[in-house]
Amino acid sequence: MAKCSICSEKIAELFLEKIKGTIVKKPGSQKHYVVCFACQKKFPTKEELLQQIK
Ligand SMILES: [Zn+2]
Repeated sequence: MAKCSICSEKIAELFLEKIKGTIVKKPGSQKHYVVCFACQKKFPTKEELLQQIK
């Protein structure tokens, strides 16, 4: 099960690789970070989201 990169909340995965949340990529990194819907609402821009991810 995927976990939110910001709040560590578990994110329910749906079939066909769709998750209830979003996936962000750090510039210059191949790593993907999963962010839950709640955090996505808290930090509406990609820049803000990336700042929250360590
Ligand atoms: Zn979250």
